[in-house]
Amino acid sequence: MNIKKLLPLAMIIIIAMLVAFFVSYKITVAVRTSSQPVTEETTAAVEETTVNTEETTASGNIAVELTEIPTPKKVTMPADESWCLVLLNAYYKMDSSYEPQLTEVVEGTGIYLDSRVAEKFIQMYNAALSDSVTLTPASGYVSLDRQTRNYDKQVESLIASGLSEEQSKVQAIFYVLPEGCSEHNYGLAIDIGWIADSFADSPAYSWLKKHAAEYGFIERYTADKEGITHYQASPWHWRYVGVDAAKAMKADNLCLEEYLGKLN
Ligand SMILES: [Zn+2]
Repeated sequence: MNIKKLLPLAMIIIIAMLVAFFVSYKITVAVRTSSQPVTEETTAAVEETTVNTEETTASGNIAVELTEIPTPKKVTMPADESWCLVLLNAYYKMDSSYEPQLTEVVEGTGIYLDSRVAEKFIQMYNAALSDSVTLTPASGYVSLDRQTRNYDKQVESLIASGLSEEQSKVQAIFYVLPEGCSEHNYGLAIDIGWIADSFADSPAYSWLKKHAAEYGFIERYTADKEGITHYQASPWHWRYVGVDAAKAMKADNLCLEEYLGKLN
């Protein structure tokens, strides 16, 4: 067989390979977009989550995740007015002996926050209500024990998806922080509405984007900061940082790590 006869065959093989690559990339993107978000509070969400690690890695979408488990530094709750700026993430955890003073937000919800944050949330809740918007509390304070159970469940679901135990422990941090590293463990953050990306399409989210900073709350985890926070974008998760800090962060589009100059 001469080379001229082989050329069309080679072209067909190359085109078929390109089509196969393109189709698999599209599937990867679709899988990533449709996967349910997991939270540190919602057991059901943890169980429902499908994590397609191989495909996601191929698309480059998890480059923001950690490559090893950090050993978090212990921090203490400041006694002065900077208490609301305490940084908690995979690199910083609160002393486990710290016990927050809690207040139920909106009677009957069974959802608690640090009493100082609860007071501010209630002000914001009432302001939204007068604009005919309900900021339904979905989750607040989470105990250390429950945090550990939720993290372990996330690890198990990643192992079930085919990852090694070690990889699962690292990657789980993108969805559920380890014990003592979550703002929920100190009642400093509240999940509002429902725990899914679709909350970003709700009137409550639009209201929060416009007004939350006036009450000292920030959207803690946004998609454009995942490389800094090492945490999935969570439009439902709002952290109290005080009015001045919230307004400054909003004006300059800074996440808490950037605002405090504590980057990892
Ligand atoms: Zn949250």
